[in-house]
Amino acid sequence: MATTKYNRALLKISGESLAGDRGFGIDPTALQFVAGQIKKAWFLGVQLGVVVGGGNFWRGVEAQEEGMERATADHAGMLATIMNSLALQDALEKIGVVTRTQTALEVTAVAEPYIRRRAIRHMEKGRIVLFAAGTGSPYVTTDTAAALRGVEMGVDLLLMSKNAVDGVYDKDPKTDPTAKKFDQLTYIDALNRRLNVMDATALSFCMDNDLPIIVFDLYNPDVIERILSGENAGTLVHNGKNDSDAKEIQGGT
Ligand code: UDP
Repeated sequence: MATTKYNRALLKISGESLAGDRGFGIDPTALQFVAGQIKKAWFLGVQLGVVVGGGNFWRGVEAQEEGMERATADHAGMLATIMNSLALQDALEKIGVVTRTQTALEVTAVAEPYIRRRAIRHMEKGRIVLFAAGTGSPYVTTDTAAALRGVEMGVDLLLMSKNAVDGVYDKDPKTDPTAKKFDQLTYIDALNRRLNVMDATALSFCMDNDLPIIVFDLYNPDVIERILSGENAGTLVHNGKNDSDAKEIQGGT
């Protein structure tokens, strides 16, 4: 088994990454690819939790804009994350990865309720825990759920996956060819410059609890292994304290 830098990590996957080219719902090829990426981390022996979004089916803010009451719309969004988690659970189990799904909203016929100590025990036993239904509360997103569960689980790293973007840039690299990638930056700079790491509520929670984040491209086939082995890949967002040469912001190319 290869050596890893991290003992326990939390991976955030957006719902969109399960939709593939369809842009909506679940595309079986995309689902299998994501499951294969997760298996690589599992194979390294890293204890792993996964928070899956629901934006491929439903976003509370969008439903609110169309007239729906926000809290109810957010409850529907949380249900969407349960569908995604069950699909991912199925894809992972089919390739031999042992999983447990825990939900923040109780759906006891299909998954365990979220119980912190039980989730930790699953991970210690080598099971991947899929955290579904976000935080269980409206007005936040699954980014916040990932930050919260990451801190609760005592992970060493929050793996923040993006679709076809390999880190954090000063501008949108999909539309601006002059955009520059950061190798690393501090939480406060990411917040002040409104860089696309995760939503601000989640990012400030990571800052308050000193949880390092690596933003990376989920579609890069070997990137998860490289990150978990301690190689520099993606963009590290942290407090900058442990890095002797960390300036306020270090821009890469
Ligand atoms: N949601 C929520 N509370 C949470 C997590 C999610 O209310 O703790 C709802 C919210 O409506 C959100 C939707 O679930 O829009 C889907 O999650 P998200 O937008 O984070 O999915 P992603 O963009 O990551 O696919």
